[in-house]
Amino acid sequence: MKLDPSLRTATRLVHGGVNRTHHGETAEALFLTSGYVYENAEQAEATFTGTIEHYQYSRFANPTLSMLEERLCLIEGAEACRTTATGMAAVNAALMSHLKAGDRVVASRALFGSCHWIVSTLLPRFGIQTEFVDGTDLDQWAQALSRPANLVLLESPSNPMLELVDLPAVAALAHQAGAIVVVDNVFATPLLQQPLQLGADVVVYSCTKHIDGQGRVLGGAVLGRTKWVNETLQPFIRNTGPALSPFNAWLLLKGLETLALRVDASSRAAATIADFLADQPAVSRVWYPFRADHPQHALARQQMTAGGTIVTFEVAGGKEAAFRVMNAFRLIAISNNLGDSKSMVTHPTTTTHMRIGEAERQRLGISPGVIRFSVGLEDPADLMDDLRQALERAPG
Ligand SMILES: *Cc1c(COP(=O)(O)O)cnc(C)c1O
Repeated sequence: MKLDPSLRTATRLVHGGVNRTHHGETAEALFLTSGYVYENAEQAEATFTGTIEHYQYSRFANPTLSMLEERLCLIEGAEACRTTATGMAAVNAALMSHLKAGDRVVASRALFGSCHWIVSTLLPRFGIQTEFVDGTDLDQWAQALSRPANLVLLESPSNPMLELVDLPAVAALAHQAGAIVVVDNVFATPLLQQPLQLGADVVVYSCTKHIDGQGRVLGGAVLGRTKWVNETLQPFIRNTGPALSPFNAWLLLKGLETLALRVDASSRAAATIADFLADQPAVSRVWYPFRADHPQHALARQQMTAGGTIVTFEVAGGKEAAFRVMNAFRLIAISNNLGDSKSMVTHPTTTTHMRIGEAERQRLGISPGVIRFSVGLEDPADLMDDLRQALERAPG
């Protein structure tokens, strides 16, 4: 069923991609099947030669995944989408399907840990040259992209310091250098920032985060132009097998139905909590893209429609003070996950960003007092009560 293109995002999140069977089920059908049967040998032959469209095998495609992919295209404004078992499978497929030995990749330094590992460690093993730049510094991008390149990978806002990359400016530089631009859009979600509209060629998601948003399943998605998805990405996915489980795809379809409600509520709470934290004596600094004291807040307002669901803050007194605060929370959980309906805090220095080392952390501005706060769906007043009582422990 093709959706009326005039329908708005909230409606697309509920109805997009629905492909009802003859039973007329209300919920999207869960096609928990690995394979498909043909009516006769001729139909199997026609399927394999591509003269008819027929599902072949769930490593290639599955009707429940197709509904999810179509819905994601409709909210992202993308031509085509493939989903994967995890966000990292999506990033890896986007990169590995496009690159070959001798190619050159430029990436922003502030990347999710596993994305950083792929660029710094995995790609060079296959003869791909990689270079990191400070994503906030357009001069560094211009310098790195003054030579031919094949792919640019970036994250904006970044984890955990919420740094932004000027997407239209970097896309223009990348295209001049001959590179495609891949944006990891997890922190902004498809609702608050649409990189394809800002000049990017490919968008990747960890659906594990806001799209599921309820801590249940892992998933990933890659979105881009039909030609690139069909000719470059799909052969890689089909033959290497990072396929998403139909059951997880079904849960992600259900997650999308409430995505706008959840992201809107968490993002509004995050903006309020960022202001609240900035007034607390135990907090030395707050980072939130839509606050006037964010170094790139003008850019944030140009390319995002809200500040997002994550607030990062620094407790005066370093690691000891940060640990005292985290251990005092009654409601807010300690977890390395984010984008969940339950509020969570992370201490990047000792967990998610432990492996990158002290020098790299300093370059990224991740100090031992920094706490990343993923704002959930609790009443914001309860979250602020919890923050207030915990921050009283900071001085020790
Ligand atoms: C979580 C995350 C990933 C990886 O996704 P998984 O689903 O855990 O594999 C990639 N990028 C960003 C920004 C993330 O937050």
